[in-house]
Amino acid sequence: MAYVVGVTGGIGSGKTTVANLFAEKGIEVIDADVIARQVVEPGSEGLKAIAAKFGASMLNDDGTLNRGALREHVFSHPEDKEWLNGLLHPKIRHEMITQTAQAKSSYCLLVIPLLVENGLQSLCQRVLVVDVSEATQIARTTQRDQVPEEQVKSILAAQATREQRLEAANDVITNEDDSKVLSQQIETLHHQYLALAAQ
Ligand code: ATP
Repeated sequence: MAYVVGVTGGIGSGKTTVANLFAEKGIEVIDADVIARQVVEPGSEGLKAIAAKFGASMLNDDGTLNRGALREHVFSHPEDKEWLNGLLHPKIRHEMITQTAQAKSSYCLLVIPLLVENGLQSLCQRVLVVDVSEATQIARTTQRDQVPEEQVKSILAAQATREQRLEAANDVITNEDDSKVLSQQIETLHHQYLALAAQ
């Protein structure tokens, strides 16, 4: 079974950028956001349960989940949000365990944006935090998504603080500089993880 490195970081910190650089080294990347979509794919138990509870208005014409409608509904019905999390979180967790167990590279990355918020440290042997200042998070996210600064700030406020994340970290990538500095940090960690996985 592959050694699992959990990767986390706040919005726009560079998790995807970091994961892509490890993937270029042949390291398998399992992404919690991808799994969160898989568990509500057409035909899935998750989507069937959502349609059974909330009705067909939660589905698009093509049978996929109408995410906007569901988001809006649970925003104004906290008890249904709890129900939804109770339905989906165990499925997502189960799938993360299954996919990491099937990884073929000597170690794998499990990218979980809300690893600290959801207390998912037990799913990995090591936690790697991608760390940047809030100012950098705001600048990069507003540029990438073309959204107002206020929108990014409200997401930041709903996530764990930088300090909470760093407290959970075994390793930290500081992603303030250019891609050369980033690649050097990844190279060092890659060798460290290969050695840990071989133990
Ligand atoms: P999210 O949580 O929002 O999905 P993320 O943590 O996966 O974000 P990325 O999408 O990897 O973050 O990076 C955010 C933006 O910052 C992207 O546009 C990316 O190209 C850019 N970026 C990442 N690292 C750097 C860097 N070292 N220098 C400049 N830009 C960077």
